[in-house]
Amino acid sequence: MGQLRVPGPTPCPPEVLQALSWQMINHRGPEFGKMIHDVTAKLKQIFQTKKDLYLLTCSGTGGLEAAIVNTLSPGDKVLAAPVGAFGERFTSMAEVFGAEVIPVRAEWGKAADPDEIRRALQKEPGIKAVLVTHNETSTGVTNDLAAISAVVKEFDKLLLVDAVSSIGSIDLPVDKWHCDVTVTGSQKGWMVPPGMAMVSVSQEAWQAHAKAKMPRFNWDFARAQKYLEIGQTPWTPAVSIVFALSVALDMMLKEGLSNIFDRHARVGKAAREGVKSLGLSLFADERYASNTVTAVSVKDGLDVKEMLRILREEYQIVLAGGQQSLQGKIFRIGHLGLITEDDIKEIISALKEVLPRVGA
Ligand code: PLP
Repeated sequence: MGQLRVPGPTPCPPEVLQALSWQMINHRGPEFGKMIHDVTAKLKQIFQTKKDLYLLTCSGTGGLEAAIVNTLSPGDKVLAAPVGAFGERFTSMAEVFGAEVIPVRAEWGKAADPDEIRRALQKEPGIKAVLVTHNETSTGVTNDLAAISAVVKEFDKLLLVDAVSSIGSIDLPVDKWHCDVTVTGSQKGWMVPPGMAMVSVSQEAWQAHAKAKMPRFNWDFARAQKYLEIGQTPWTPAVSIVFALSVALDMMLKEGLSNIFDRHARVGKAAREGVKSLGLSLFADERYASNTVTAVSVKDGLDVKEMLRILREEYQIVLAGGQQSLQGKIFRIGHLGLITEDDIKEIISALKEVLPRVGA
């Protein structure tokens, strides 16, 4: 049947595919109004938040831009803790909108160090917000967000979280961990196609919003709130993705949050043990290895491109390569959303056959 195992887009269950074929409805009518309220309430359960939550028609990057422009002003000092390609993107976005970014970088493959963040916050007065990636998809690292949040809140700073490839698959209790803006994208663990970002907003983020001066229009949370109150979005939403989400969220809530997290933990462990059993090593510091994506280091002489081609063409298994400086140095197995340990077994068996053919 084939397996799409990049870290998003992820496969959709048949029930979700069915919902994608539903006839269009009026996005300013009562049927959509009921659906958006229902979807928002269910998303809040999975975000473990009682705060506000909005659907934005865009990919995860749009949601991250929303987090920045709704809470910051040009010239604001922010601390960013990038540990890979997506953290760097979040950092540059803040710079593009005029923030003065103080980066606290970790070597790719390592997790952000809460003590370093504390030292930077002590050293640099006047920091407004801290930008963190919960799960760095490019390196397969999950940061210790609870510990980072504790540090950020010691200093009473805003915490803006890229949870694009974590929330819904890995435990992220938004309210308990005091995340002010938390962003995810529909094509990750949610089992629906790309097209929607889901963003939670705390009271502290609203206070920052009242003073924030970065230009915003499409992503303005105030507009999203005003329209949600009447069961709408400010502009035409990706209606089919809302259909798909309504079905996928029911499936997720039926499985139960702790069962979802446990399944991802088992699948992640199976992926890590599987690749190690083939003599390969993990790129990520194993203490922080992600349960949604496994990055595998390749030894000199192993042709990653050819390996990915054979897996794709002969086994119908699609894995991901490395990004930016990691191209040719790692490959990645996405294991989020609709996945079981049997799927991982199939991938490991295929790798076992293919590796000797590509220089391993
Ligand atoms: N942040 C992380 C951690 C991601 O994994 C991704 C997508 O892979 C993004 C941000 C960007 O999301 P999108 O491609 O949906 O804009």
